[in-house]
Amino acid sequence: MATSREYRLKSRPAGMPSADNFELATVNLPEPGPGEVQVRNLWLSVDPYMRGRMNDEPSYLPPWQIGKVLDGGALGEVTVSNADGLRPGDLVNSFYGWREGFTAPAATVQKLDPKGLPPQTFLSAAGGTGLTAYAGLLEVARLKDGDVVFVSGAAGAVGSMACQIAKAKGHTVIGSAGGPEKVAFLKEIGVDHAVDYKAEPDLTAAVRRAAPDGIDVYFDNVGGDHLDAALAAARTGARFAICGMISAYNEAQPAAGPRNLRMMMGKAIEMKGFLVTHYLGLQPAFLADFIRWHAEGKLRWRETVVQGIERTPEAFLGLFRGDNTGKMLVKLN
Ligand code: NAP
Repeated sequence: MATSREYRLKSRPAGMPSADNFELATVNLPEPGPGEVQVRNLWLSVDPYMRGRMNDEPSYLPPWQIGKVLDGGALGEVTVSNADGLRPGDLVNSFYGWREGFTAPAATVQKLDPKGLPPQTFLSAAGGTGLTAYAGLLEVARLKDGDVVFVSGAAGAVGSMACQIAKAKGHTVIGSAGGPEKVAFLKEIGVDHAVDYKAEPDLTAAVRRAAPDGIDVYFDNVGGDHLDAALAAARTGARFAICGMISAYNEAQPAAGPRNLRMMMGKAIEMKGFLVTHYLGLQPAFLADFIRWHAEGKLRWRETVVQGIERTPEAFLGLFRGDNTGKMLVKLN
């Protein structure tokens, strides 16, 4: 590859971002030097956390810089290698996303063994997405026999994995998602009570109807009124794994809630936030369970695929409109 198109940050949004915040540029790719590889990206990941990187504020990842190429998860194929252990044709995972290709030190990419799965699965269900669900349920919420589990954002990438992992372990699962098609998907993947939060005037009442005796575990992807509802429906000793709060990511002003956090006291609720990067050591155990559950027919995954580098911002913005079921991915031509 002599050139690569890449997305850069053009401006920072206030509130909901738009395509105008991004610009596409073409760059020349340098020949790889000693110990370097050149990679053609095949798939790009777009993720809700990237919204935080558009803001100029400190977080667990540095803000994207105006005029600079964006980064994120990517899966590509080595085209040229001057490094031991990597050959043309090898598949690699990297963080050089939002671009068609790159030249980089071999040590900054990870060779991928897809284990007979479609390789992009390692940007979605079998990769960080599934691991997030696995770590959140097993390590953060310390799932135990008989727990009733509530998952918000249940038809999304992490949420749909969380629902199925809880089902594979024999739990009753309540999942919430927006719209009848997503509710149908939740039923397909075995969720016991699927709540269409967009059609529910009172989410707390809907969760209470689904779990009359309360919930023991809440896997939060959404925050806001979903967290309020989970607090209200929690049983004594409930554990909350705070994975994400997408309902707040585009707020220009901080939200007022949660309005009923005081319920943590009387119900002795444990609430713990986490990042998947705290649990990377679980990946081999997760992958072994993933492959077994898949072989047993207990795990399915869906991807929403947008085609072409040009449409990467559209795919990203679609996460906040609910355009995706399962993992949102960009497939490069
Ligand atoms: P995702 O759920 O596949 O995609 C986003 C989905 O969120 C949309 O499809 C939409 O579904 C829902 N959504 C968007 N805006 C919403 C709003 N205002 N209120 C309620 N729902 C809304 O994304 P994901 O990658 O699986 O991430 C899910 C959550 O986990 C995010 O909060 C993300 O930041 C977090 N996360 C955390 C970690 C970690 O390490 N802690 C790792 C990965 C992801 P509906 O159509 O159902 O509304």
